[in-house]
Amino acid sequence: MRYEAPDTAERAATLLADAGAEARVLAGGTDLLVQMRSDIVEPALIVDIKRIAETRIITEEPGGAWRIGAAVTGAELKEHSRLKQLWPGVVEAANLIGSTQIQGRATLGGNLCNGSPAADSVPALIAAGAVASLAGPAGRRELPVEDVMLGPRKLALTPGEFVASFLLPPRLPRASDAYLRFIPRTEMDIAVVGAGVSLTVDGAGTITAARVSLGAVAPRVLLVQPAAAAIIGTRLDRPAQDRLEEAARAACAPIDDKRGTVEFRIQVAGVLTRRAALIALDRARTR
Ligand SMILES: Cc1cc2nc3c(=O)[nH]c(=O)nc-3n(C[C@H](O)[C@H](O)[C@H](O)COP(=O)(O)OP(=O)(O)OC[C@H]3O[C@@H](n4cnc5c(N)ncnc54)[C@H](O)[C@@H]3O)c2cc1C
Repeated sequence: MRYEAPDTAERAATLLADAGAEARVLAGGTDLLVQMRSDIVEPALIVDIKRIAETRIITEEPGGAWRIGAAVTGAELKEHSRLKQLWPGVVEAANLIGSTQIQGRATLGGNLCNGSPAADSVPALIAAGAVASLAGPAGRRELPVEDVMLGPRKLALTPGEFVASFLLPPRLPRASDAYLRFIPRTEMDIAVVGAGVSLTVDGAGTITAARVSLGAVAPRVLLVQPAAAAIIGTRLDRPAQDRLEEAARAACAPIDDKRGTVEFRIQVAGVLTRRAALIALDRARTR
């Protein structure tokens, strides 16, 4: 097995493209190394992207958008006070991943590109309206996070492409987000359902914009537009909460397994979406 750690996105893309299906990107390694040790994957080439400066930065762009490198870890996000203030839902989602040790390694890019519909940071990124910046042999392109994952372990990346960074849009005043998940244990478990909500309110407390995303209830993490539509123009009063819950439940097409039945996952998706929206609203009002 060959290991390369290029310091430019162009070189990484060339290495990945030349090796084709035999190559794997390495970020924190918390999924990849486990899969290698279990003989699920046996890459001939590992391309460590952490020496590429863009993958490791958190910077504010002109206009107030935020760029977060794909190899930034949950622990690094948590230590960024401005990002925590603007995007608490994204930061809390990344910090539900595994244990303290895992959070020191696990990256946003790895969480997305591992291709799990139960990945914790992905609903929060989708709710936030994050856009992935992809680097590949043909250059760069941008893809909304909700379009990156096509299904379990299936990504919309073309050969040689990898996620270099994410762009979070400029945050208006009175806007915030939240992420909640249900797991059978208190920590170190895979989400049975995950719900991310981001919203903006006006001076009167009416929701003017919203995005809702659900994880672990379908083959890919979902952007649930009808759920957002159910609360835009409302003050999230009880009837709006009920419509939100109903729209969230209607979007679910979950699996039935030992960790949760179809009925249970659908029920919990509604409850968590409602609760996440209430938390996001509370945060937005006090920002
Ligand atoms: C004990 C334990 C607990 C865990 N708990 C959780 C949890 O609670 N919630 C959760 O969501 N996950 C959990 N995970 C899974 C894992 O930690 C996360 O998915 C993590 O975010 C993966 O990031 P990474 O940087 O370690 O990825 P890596 O292992 O480096 O990579 C994962 C996959 O993505 C690819 N990849 C990585 N970065 C990129 C990129 N930038 N562009 C293209 N492809 C890329 C790799 O080739 C690989 O296929 C847990 C794992 C362990 C071992």
